[in-house]
Amino acid sequence: MNNGKKATSLPPRKEEKDVTLFIKGNANQLSTKSLPSGRFGGGLDSFYMRRCLQLARNGQQNAQPNPMVGAVVVCNGRIIGEGYHVRCGEGHAEVNALASVKQEDEHLLKESTIYVSLEPCSHYGKTPPCADLIISKGLKRCVVGCIDPFAQVQGRGIQKLRDAGIEVTVGVLAEECQALNKRFMTFHQQKRPFVTLKWARTQDGVMGVKGERLIISNTYTQMLCHKRRTEHQAILVGRKTLEEDAPTLNVRAWIGKNPQPIVLGSHVKNLPQGWWSFPTVEDLLSALYEKGVQTLLVEGGRTTLQAFIDKGMWDEAFVEWGDFSWAENPEGKTRETVKVPVWRDAERIADERVMGRNIEHWKHLSTTE
Ligand SMILES: [Zn+2]
Repeated sequence: MNNGKKATSLPPRKEEKDVTLFIKGNANQLSTKSLPSGRFGGGLDSFYMRRCLQLARNGQQNAQPNPMVGAVVVCNGRIIGEGYHVRCGEGHAEVNALASVKQEDEHLLKESTIYVSLEPCSHYGKTPPCADLIISKGLKRCVVGCIDPFAQVQGRGIQKLRDAGIEVTVGVLAEECQALNKRFMTFHQQKRPFVTLKWARTQDGVMGVKGERLIISNTYTQMLCHKRRTEHQAILVGRKTLEEDAPTLNVRAWIGKNPQPIVLGSHVKNLPQGWWSFPTVEDLLSALYEKGVQTLLVEGGRTTLQAFIDKGMWDEAFVEWGDFSWAENPEGKTRETVKVPVWRDAERIADERVMGRNIEHWKHLSTTE
């Protein structure tokens, strides 16, 4: 919605032809980046753990609020079963991997190793403990990527397996396993949601113009922006943005769940139905933790984004660069503009080219990895 304001979108100067990186995180793509030379580089345990990570990523949209987990059952160099956590409330990765073992291979379980990217659970949640299942199936060995930070697990799953006489190896590709579930890890370790910041800017550092709607994204980056919304449980703007732009914050240019809309700021006029409102960043983050909201996308404006940066309450950020300068607009110099936020404790970790646009990926330096 633009509230009747004039929309400004300057034509792109460069040819738009960079399409290759448009959709990232393809679940079926095997990451071989950290593989040293040779097919089994990093050892056999790393090889099978990499397969667990690959499987785990298939749960990206539906596993949450549970972590993404993959599991592989191996006997004498042959994968006899594999699975991942598909959907919250349904079987965990270990359950699915063991269920996929063919009847004629069942007798091999006693000589088999189960690889799992996250420590097997030891508690009764929506499903019985996976550690008990591994014990009852009589597996010989269990290789774990990283420890589950969830308060009811935290090493108890590993202990349970060891107490039952199963050989357990912990920490194979630990960094990659933790990074895969960085949002889940941040939520449980820092007791607040994982916070992603997002804004778009012109070449000369303008993110908005007073009294006017400045369109920086193109059709493709807008789709990417909506895809990002589906990857977060909640989405936030500041009071001013809500009152001036009345954004809907729902998902239109992609397929997926709408995040919970939130406005930050006191004395909000006409709070839209279904929205949540919090006066401060601290109130917001502790309330979201209590409600079990693990991921928050902050879409601005500048004052709101700067508040998260200054308080160090953010984890990663995506900044889209439009391919024009505001000052080149004939009216450019006469209008009051909103400048981009100022970084603090931030590191730029990657650049992504999307249809002629550059999207910078930043991370907070004290973020949990
Ligand atoms: Zn489990």
